[in-house]
Amino acid sequence: MDAQRTLRRSISCAGIGLHSGRKVTLSLKPAPPDAGIRFRRTDLGGLEIPASAEHVGGIQYATGLTRERATVETVEHLLAALVSSGVDNAIVELNTPEVPIMDGSAAPFIYLIQEAGIKRLAAPRRYLKVLRPITLSRGDKRIALYPSDHFKVTYSISFDHPLLRHQARTLRISEDSFAEEIAPARTFCFLKEVEMLRQNGLALGGSLDNAIVIGETGVLNSALRFEDEFVRHKILDVIGDLALVGRPIIGHVVAHRGGHALHTAFASRILEEADAWREVEAGAAEAQPVGAAIRTVPAAN
Ligand SMILES: [Zn+2]
Repeated sequence: MDAQRTLRRSISCAGIGLHSGRKVTLSLKPAPPDAGIRFRRTDLGGLEIPASAEHVGGIQYATGLTRERATVETVEHLLAALVSSGVDNAIVELNTPEVPIMDGSAAPFIYLIQEAGIKRLAAPRRYLKVLRPITLSRGDKRIALYPSDHFKVTYSISFDHPLLRHQARTLRISEDSFAEEIAPARTFCFLKEVEMLRQNGLALGGSLDNAIVIGETGVLNSALRFEDEFVRHKILDVIGDLALVGRPIIGHVVAHRGGHALHTAFASRILEEADAWREVEAGAAEAQPVGAAIRTVPAAN
């Protein structure tokens, strides 16, 4: 059986919120089978918000979730790290509304999850296996999900900037490929945006320690972690945003010039188009003995 997983033990870290600039303590805790990933606001008496597309709230420069009077902001890098580490069930406790930005990448969260360890649960994991294409476009931004035997992401970006005219990458996502090739890629912004963001009360915690800042002629940071760190970060973002479908995806995501608004709208679109996929209990071929057939189960919705 391809089992659901959670964390072996609880683990905490501290950081600041990118947009709020406020200090935050984050704790990751084990959760039982079928709990999914749930955010819990300890400063609001433990109000919980499931990491689910139906709770998407603000999505201007980061992805936020809302339920009743509780919100949680900038969830995407942590969600990408959790799902790519194979964590299906976890409680994420926060004492403010924003997940800490850490170094602007998912690498510190991968480290935290590895420190906590992974525990297999006595329940089968259910994947969302794509049967026919699902697409969504808004102007020149587009995203699609195609049938594939594995979870793969192709992303392309283009900006009107000499450093960033065009970058594209395709990667089959596994625990290892995510940790090595995608997790360290940091968030980025243009210097000319920074002032506008701050005037709107955003990016108050932003600095060269947690974002790549792109000036007119080059990046203000000392070095990039990858030559194409920007498109790798977009892959990180889309994995985190599509975690809101609530199950690991078996399919090929292809996105061009997307952002959090498009990604999260697409997560809802995937769930709406329930005839375009099927829930299955066996994952990628290598997770199964040779010759094992994929067993289908009725879709839950
Ligand atoms: Zn990001």
